[in-house]
Amino acid sequence: MGNKTSNRKVLILAGDGIGPECMDQVRRITDWFSSQRQVSFELSEGKVGGASIDADGTPLTDETMADAMAVDAVLFGAVGGPKWEDLDFADRPERGLLRLRKDMDLFANLRPALVFDALADASSLKHDLVAGLDLMIVRELTGGIYFGEPRGIETLPDGTKRGINTQVYTTPEIERVARVAFDLAGKRQGRVCSVEKANVMESGQLWRDVVKQVHDNEFPDIELSNMYADACAMQLIRQPKQFDVIVTDNLFGDILSDAAAMLTGSLGMLPSASLGAIDQNGKRHALYEPVHGTAPDIAGQGIANPIATILSFSMMLRYSFDLGADADLVDQAVANVLAGGLRTGDIMQEGKAKVSTTVMGDAILQELDKLNS
Ligand code: NAD
Repeated sequence: MGNKTSNRKVLILAGDGIGPECMDQVRRITDWFSSQRQVSFELSEGKVGGASIDADGTPLTDETMADAMAVDAVLFGAVGGPKWEDLDFADRPERGLLRLRKDMDLFANLRPALVFDALADASSLKHDLVAGLDLMIVRELTGGIYFGEPRGIETLPDGTKRGINTQVYTTPEIERVARVAFDLAGKRQGRVCSVEKANVMESGQLWRDVVKQVHDNEFPDIELSNMYADACAMQLIRQPKQFDVIVTDNLFGDILSDAAAMLTGSLGMLPSASLGAIDQNGKRHALYEPVHGTAPDIAGQGIANPIATILSFSMMLRYSFDLGADADLVDQAVANVLAGGLRTGDIMQEGKAKVSTTVMGDAILQELDKLNS
């Protein structure tokens, strides 16, 4: 029973729209873990986004921000919706998420592209190219061209304009995201592909050099390869199963992770993690969230797919709490339920049974019981 007393502090910020509906199913799974696996979590709850605007007049209160800094992991739903769309940009629900990312210094964004066998036909690629696909894109999230200075639009003497953004990376920024990628690869198939445009960009040349240095000095057992971003885009579509972990900058990661996501079929299936710096106590800030938004078109109907949120919880088990076997259990339960033919509306296929959010949750819990017996 050693685990029973261990401290795993998790803040749940379910947010708006389908966020809370999906999060309800995760709460049932955490209950299952504490009763069946002696793995307990100290859950706390907070408001974010529109829910926080309605209750407290701001998308994230200072108290909730402080709570997020104090816990071991934040499990996030989604924020936003038509009700708050007319607010000024600075007051909108999304600001809550942006503040969390900034204050927690979440510099590494992990986006797995995982294809469950049962859903391989939902991909835009041929079944054989994607069946069994399991790759992870690690995107640098707080640097690069989206933040670099100088930036702006200036008017030239002849009246035409010039738009400027700056791609900039420092050694420590590259080192810390490279370490996350190598570390992850060590828990997976042991291969990292570092992606840049070292052929035409100095920042890419530095990226390549620093990644190699971190590799040679700290992770010599991991296999490292390099690829130009354009070639990587091509290879992701041509032969995605060649990759294990891809590590890349903010801009290329933004594009490549969306491309990889579509190999897997539906938004309702995609989890993500954002990891921060390790603090003075050796703890790493982390936030786990589905890739999808609040789906206002179906919110409140009880038909949302909870799997992306459940798989985000599974990533939390794996990456914040080192509970790999427990994460495997959740992933396997999801795979078995899909193989058994249950589908929410977004992943519905001919001949399968269309079920609600709660029934999908019921089925995953039953599968967990079976796997655990
Ligand atoms: P969305 O992801 O909410 O929805 C896109 C489409 O996919 C919709 O048709 C929706 O019904 C469907 N969908 C998404 N997740 C689903 C699920 N789990 N189960 C079943 N169907 C699902 O994107 P959107 O429509 O562009 O944005 C809606 C709102 O969400 C906006 O206010 C947007 O700003 C916000 N948003 C928030 C986040 C976030 O909190 N991280 C991310 C994206 C969008």
